[in-house]
Amino acid sequence: MKHDPNKTEITLKGIPISPGIAIARVCLFNDSRHSRIVPVKVSAEEKGREIGRLREAFMLAGERLGDIQQRVSLEVGKAEGEIFVAQKMMVEDTTLQGRMIAAIEEGEAGAEMAVMSIMDTYEARISALDNQYLRERATDVGEVKRRLLDVLAKTRPGLTCAGKSHCQHGRGRVVVGVELTPSLTIDLDARNLRGLVTEHGGVTSHAAILARALGIPAVSGIRGVQGLVTCGTEILVNGDTGEVVLWPSSERVAQVGKRDTGPRDTQPVNPVVALRVMANISVAADVKHAVQMKAEGVGLYRTEFEFMAAGRELSEDEQFERYSAVVKSMKGAPVTIRLLDVGGDKQADYLGLPQEANPVLGFRGARLLQKRPELLRVQARAMARASVEGPLHVLYPMIVDVAQFVSLRGLFLDAVREVPAGTIRHGAMFEVPSACLDAEALFKVADFGSIGTNDLYQYLFAIDRDNEMVAWDFRPDHPVFWSMIRRVAQAAAAAGKPLSVCGELAGMNEYVLKLMEAGVNTVSVNSHLISSVRRTVVNRR
Ligand code: PEP
Ligand code: MG
Repeated sequence: MKHDPNKTEITLKGIPISPGIAIARVCLFNDSRHSRIVPVKVSAEEKGREIGRLREAFMLAGERLGDIQQRVSLEVGKAEGEIFVAQKMMVEDTTLQGRMIAAIEEGEAGAEMAVMSIMDTYEARISALDNQYLRERATDVGEVKRRLLDVLAKTRPGLTCAGKSHCQHGRGRVVVGVELTPSLTIDLDARNLRGLVTEHGGVTSHAAILARALGIPAVSGIRGVQGLVTCGTEILVNGDTGEVVLWPSSERVAQVGKRDTGPRDTQPVNPVVALRVMANISVAADVKHAVQMKAEGVGLYRTEFEFMAAGRELSEDEQFERYSAVVKSMKGAPVTIRLLDVGGDKQADYLGLPQEANPVLGFRGARLLQKRPELLRVQARAMARASVEGPLHVLYPMIVDVAQFVSLRGLFLDAVREVPAGTIRHGAMFEVPSACLDAEALFKVADFGSIGTNDLYQYLFAIDRDNEMVAWDFRPDHPVFWSMIRRVAQAAAAAGKPLSVCGELAGMNEYVLKLMEAGVNTVSVNSHLISSVRRTVVNRR
């Protein structure tokens, strides 16, 4: 993309909701397609007709949501499909339907007005709740309202693009909109998008989860951004820091562009001898792409995202279904499934956890599993059952020392004593400095290790990975960081145990070779980065 020399860059700060970097042009989507709805009053004779229209809209919107749910379940994952089950239930909720019908019967509202007034009240009530997770569900109410209005207006669902004739429908572009709704993500065929920037929407919003599952860099919380851009504006989206730059300078493009994670690399590159490259996945359905890109195993399956998407704990059978599908797809290559790493930035309101002043240093990962062993037991049984299909590696998150690892592994082994299982190995995440400093001892008991550079950097340098105010001080070249990596690599080599690196750094071309120099011979990255990592290794001198 060529920089327009007449424009000075503007830097905006938002909330990073899906990692990665994209530099492209804007595709501006406006959400005002219903602004022309004139609230018409209806006479007594017209009420029957309006109620009929409304009933038809309930039925058609329900059917459309059912179709979307099936498509998302197949293409993205079952848990993500459930988002639309919740919306379908809302459309089919007889109490809500009754309120809208009553608004027509008892007043002068037409069908559109009834939908808007009842759904707006409902949305406002949910938005005012204390619970953040429930508050974010207000987005679903807005979605249902828009869908009903779409059906009533007999318009095709989907947002109207301001780009008119040169509209790319988001293809190869960064979509800028008011809110990143699940339907927006799906209607746009998000796989072709380069990035997303929105005015509203939180980290735990369903659409954010979808964006992460699809590997699209996304930033939200930039109020007024729609008014600053037009279709075609040059834009840089940094989903790691939440920074969005309009008309980025050539210097910035040259500097940050090296880390541009898109467009999706669809060309698989064969495995290379010097470095084993495995895949990071967030939902079971991601494994399809991992196989296409010739991943040499799954190095990190972040199981917490499927819980987050479903908004509840998944049962043993539901987990088993997902894990065994992944193990089967990998046909004997190792599958590393991480035990739930909730807490910290990965909120889990469905667990009813108390608010913490400092969650990143609080009830998170291994510590949470120690106090909520039933979560670990259910997951352990599902994993053990899945291991019958192929080798399964269990990864313990946020381990601080040997005693903690041994105690959690003990809980796992107790839980699966009666469960017929295949080969299971137990490994520790090296992402807390205390574990890295004690790597030698940990490798005496663990079967393997995986370095989580995202958290390791955060805890080593006391720098919040989610706080844009300190993002400028992220300096992964720091020698202290690399001495930590070397230390863990040496301990693994001395013990003859496998080690991989699964944090974002492993997918950044400028650090892959540095990791190899530090003694790392396996990495695990997002599937769309596998080919570029392999090319970097092949082209090294
Ligand atoms: C990490 O911390 O580097 C890691 C891989 O775990 P997560 O990003 O899920 O915390
Ligand atoms: Mg981590």
